[in-house]
Amino acid sequence: MQIAQNSVVKFHYTLTNDAGEVLDSSEGRQPLTYLHGAGNIIPGLEKQLEGHEVGEKLNVSVSPEEGYGEVQPQLVQEVPRDAFQGVEAVEPGMQFQAQTQGGPLMVTVTKVEGDTVTVDGNHPLAGQKLNFDVEIADVREASQEELEHGHVHGEGGVEH
Ligand code: ZN
Repeated sequence: MQIAQNSVVKFHYTLTNDAGEVLDSSEGRQPLTYLHGAGNIIPGLEKQLEGHEVGEKLNVSVSPEEGYGEVQPQLVQEVPRDAFQGVEAVEPGMQFQAQTQGGPLMVTVTKVEGDTVTVDGNHPLAGQKLNFDVEIADVREASQEELEHGHVHGEGGVEH
């Protein structure tokens, strides 16, 4: 069965950047499960998996536009240390949920200098070309209920 709209797909993957560094991998874990055509995964990967079948191995390159977007400089901001009340030590790498005009945004602390903290609201993988080594582990039809919910149920999916 080929991957098409409304397929439930399981696949193993290893994600590397252009320097060949491994950023993420499903190795040693359950394969990633998603509902095809529902926007559960990044658009570039979803698009390139279409039409492939169980057991196939492929290399998929995804540009930033079809991945996590370009880096948006306006999402990098300096905020006063006082903004982190209740946090004992603010250190680079910490992540916080910030309230913005566009809704909640996950930001990462990138620099702490005196009383000034630099936070970055870009996705950590924004601006990067992503290379996925994919092995398709399973393809099946989605159930009616899964289609209504827009996500996969059962193993690897949403339990409810
Ligand atoms: Zn559901």
